[in-house]
Amino acid sequence: MTVTRIDASIVIAYDGKSHVILRDGVVVYEGNRIAHVGRSYSGQADEALDARGKMVIPGFVDLHAHITQSPLSQGMKEDMPRHMPIPGSGTLSPNRWVPEPWMPEAMAKSSVYELLKSGVTTLVELGAPDWLGYPETVELLGGLGMRTYVSAGYRSAGYQDGELVHDLEAGYKQLDNSIDHLKRYEGSHGGRVRFILYPRTVDFCLPELFERSVELSEELDVPIQTHAAQSIREYRTIKEGYGKTPIEFLHDLGVLTPRTILGHCIFITSHRLIEEDPKAPELDLIAKSGATVAHCPWVFARVGRALESYPRYRDRGVNIGLGTDIFPQNMIAEMRWGAVLSKVVDIDSVAGTAPDMFNSATMNGANALGRPDLGRICEGALADIVVVDLETIRMSPVRDPIRNLVYGASDQDVDTVIIDGRTLVEHGEVIRLDERKLARDLQRIGNHFVDAVPKRNKEGKTAEDISPLSFPVWE
Ligand SMILES: [Zn+2]
Repeated sequence: MTVTRIDASIVIAYDGKSHVILRDGVVVYEGNRIAHVGRSYSGQADEALDARGKMVIPGFVDLHAHITQSPLSQGMKEDMPRHMPIPGSGTLSPNRWVPEPWMPEAMAKSSVYELLKSGVTTLVELGAPDWLGYPETVELLGGLGMRTYVSAGYRSAGYQDGELVHDLEAGYKQLDNSIDHLKRYEGSHGGRVRFILYPRTVDFCLPELFERSVELSEELDVPIQTHAAQSIREYRTIKEGYGKTPIEFLHDLGVLTPRTILGHCIFITSHRLIEEDPKAPELDLIAKSGATVAHCPWVFARVGRALESYPRYRDRGVNIGLGTDIFPQNMIAEMRWGAVLSKVVDIDSVAGTAPDMFNSATMNGANALGRPDLGRICEGALADIVVVDLETIRMSPVRDPIRNLVYGASDQDVDTVIIDGRTLVEHGEVIRLDERKLARDLQRIGNHFVDAVPKRNKEGKTAEDISPLSFPVWE
């Protein structure tokens, strides 16, 4: 097996308990595993990467991303009312849009491009098989070199004319289908492709479907993720239907376990838009169960919503990971928004720190997936390594490299990304993907999506009617 050494000005290493800042360090990996981390290394190496003037960090774990519809609403829904009072404004959502067959793959690739560029090495994707198919999703993500948890998604309900209608048999059927694929592809691509059970949302799945999910999660030893406490409507629906909050509902069904990831988990009783119980009993339920919150700050921030708050959840013992959700798929940006929003929400400059966000983006996410071999740079961990350039205006001067990364860096500062010992980004270039081609594909997809709006809108309204451009067009 090839032995590679990286000599770096800074290594964010792991001492068994915490990340530590190692100045002038060496990281050695053999094949796909880290063999040595220290101040020096006297053994043989087949290859060497000179990262002086650079920093080695563990690759990020993105706990929550929808990669096949990621950029569709870009330029469409920002600055607009959350629930637009315009008839048929839902036609700006990708739900009923029918793409041309090549489009989902191009969107997934553009998401992977952004994820790699921002240092993500482990991706929990949600919903890609709906658009791509299971074998195709596995082949695409495995072939691109990503470490991926492919979602096996299902639900028993949907909204019909504003009403929730459940069909449990249909839910079981989707679940069975996803389990068939899970059994076929779990551990493929050298173990890089794994699966995650994905009962989609608390309000779209009946209790029976959640109970079956927990049994399967234990039996197959795979994690589960669901969207929980993500909207006020969901909160009220569950409260009315079951007399419990969404988190209490999941807890009472036995869904909260160390294998469980709760997407978003914003609307709990203590949130200022709920205001029922400032003691937030849900946080103790989550903390005691060992479940994880997948926090996606930016997608909520741009509609005026935030987790209240990162320090409150953390101090109550909740494990918090980070996700990118939809566009942009940029983990560095999520860390920054996570930290800044904590401070704004708590009106406190020490709330939500750079090390908090770095822990969430690395170890906390890895722990949520039951993976002590990810999210840290230490002997025995997998070689999922990111090299960040320190000799850029954004990253200089360096005193505290983690603060610089969270508050100053952009994805332009990511120089190298290695997953499972294989280099996928080199000198800032994503080797297997062509940005310009992907951008042109996205433009064609965007045009197709916009052109389809009046065809899908009952009143024939255009995208411009529903969501006017920021300035008038010069006629
Ligand atoms: Zn989501």
